[in-house]
Amino acid sequence: MRTILSRIWSGLILVALLLACSALAACGGATPTPLEVKPVLGLPEGTDGFPWWNDSVFYQVFVRSFYDSDGDGIGDFNGLIEKLDYLNDGDPNTTTDLGISGLWLMPIHPATSYHGYDVTDYYQVNPQYGTMDDFRRLLDAVHRRGMRLIIDLVLNHTSSEHPWFIAAQNPSSPFRDWYVWSDTEPVGSGWHLGQNGFYLGIFEDGMPDLNYRNPDVNAQMLDVARYWLQEVGVDGFRIDAAKHIVEEGTIQSHSASTHNWLADFRVHFSAMKPDGLIVGEVWDNSVAVSQYLRGDELHLAFNFDLAQAILTSVRVGRADAVARILARDLKLLPNGQFAAFLSNHDQDRAMLVVGDDPAKARLAAGLLLTLPGVPFIYYGEEIGMVGKKPDEQIRTPMQWSAGENAGFTTGLPWEPVNPDYPQKNVQKQLQDGDSLLAAYRSLIRLRQRHAALRVGDTLLLQASDSACLAYLRSVPEENILVVFNLGSQALTGVTLELAQGPLAGKLRVVQLFPSQPQRGTISPPQVSAMGGIESYRFPVELPGNSFFILQLLPEN
Ligand code: CA
Repeated sequence: MRTILSRIWSGLILVALLLACSALAACGGATPTPLEVKPVLGLPEGTDGFPWWNDSVFYQVFVRSFYDSDGDGIGDFNGLIEKLDYLNDGDPNTTTDLGISGLWLMPIHPATSYHGYDVTDYYQVNPQYGTMDDFRRLLDAVHRRGMRLIIDLVLNHTSSEHPWFIAAQNPSSPFRDWYVWSDTEPVGSGWHLGQNGFYLGIFEDGMPDLNYRNPDVNAQMLDVARYWLQEVGVDGFRIDAAKHIVEEGTIQSHSASTHNWLADFRVHFSAMKPDGLIVGEVWDNSVAVSQYLRGDELHLAFNFDLAQAILTSVRVGRADAVARILARDLKLLPNGQFAAFLSNHDQDRAMLVVGDDPAKARLAAGLLLTLPGVPFIYYGEEIGMVGKKPDEQIRTPMQWSAGENAGFTTGLPWEPVNPDYPQKNVQKQLQDGDSLLAAYRSLIRLRQRHAALRVGDTLLLQASDSACLAYLRSVPEENILVVFNLGSQALTGVTLELAQGPLAGKLRVVQLFPSQPQRGTISPPQVSAMGGIESYRFPVELPGNSFFILQLLPEN
């Protein structure tokens, strides 16, 4: 019912827009109005039969570092609630918020380490972050804004301080077989000496691997999933270390048993939460990643190759790294069914990788938000926070203002704030229409307004200059041409070609980004007999480190 209503509603909007466009055209001389094609209307269904997550832009939050509501120096659920308006104020008519529609919270369970990836209780929340009631209020506030929330589920291993593992040190304990033990030290890596024998912990001795060959472990962790999905009501999970779940002897990644386990988990998950999302961390090349995306395991997995290629292309000012990975991954991965990102909590921050250069960071944002895949933004990336490993340095407190401790806490922050915060903070960038934050806001809104950017097919164009990357995003109702100059030198007379494509008839161009019109209009490309683009000499200069997002519409 809602689907039919939403179709009628978007139909009406389309007609109204068409009328508005023709009225403007009749007046003559006015800036051409973009045609909004299937904007996100906050409904549960996705666009054109795609899942809802293809209409979403996710934001990765490290709760400890986001906002501290009570002055103990540690970010918390109530702090995140206070800052939700920054991410999404729940009002589709305002454009002052970032426009985020999904949150991924890094581990929120009680844990041994500050980062939370060594859980000691899967049924509670970290008391440093708040109470379960606080978390439920957060979830409710998120849902009332039309956003979704997924949590990190760390199921490959527990903390060595988890009561199950403490009990398992005793060979006669019923929990002994919940972990992987050997009386003698096995060959291969990841084995540690316990009180009675050697145990497997492929990441470190403080993170013993659970034994998923034991049906009790399996049943227990399915119950953890049930608890969070059904009793608490989260919208899905980010599965940590998904390639490592079940070992086969010395095979510690990508085992057939791991694939089988994930397929079984998916069946149970889908029964518990039919519209829930499982996004997996398979930290590997896209060939390996694609094996988890065949339809019956993960819904999405992070595309590490593309993330690296984006930052490489932006850093060196040449299109080839992204073009090569994109050409391969468009064939390798199901259409748009991967998670796109620039960097995460395990990597040097994107802004650092591109040399702390806002113009470069803007290019990276442009790629992230106009390419296929579901975009995930690591907190602070949108204001260009920098950070280089060790890990604490890439997970520093969010920089809200030029005030003390960057406005993160009134107390002593758990980790010092990056000293660049007086120059680089949310408050300052909110007041600056040319800031990186402003670019993120505009690009996210463009994605919300244009189905081609969210779910369109992607066709790479040939460009005459190695600094130029161009692609077409295409749904039947609209085509969007994205043209980047990744180099620092201005380019004139770049020629673009597309041998074959979905185009037809005479076209006109509406410039969607940047929002300021150019001096002189952008003349449209000629459509070839094969629906592609004939040798198209880009009609305006491409300044260094710039990009254009152009809607191609029928000429009327
Ligand atoms: Ca706190």
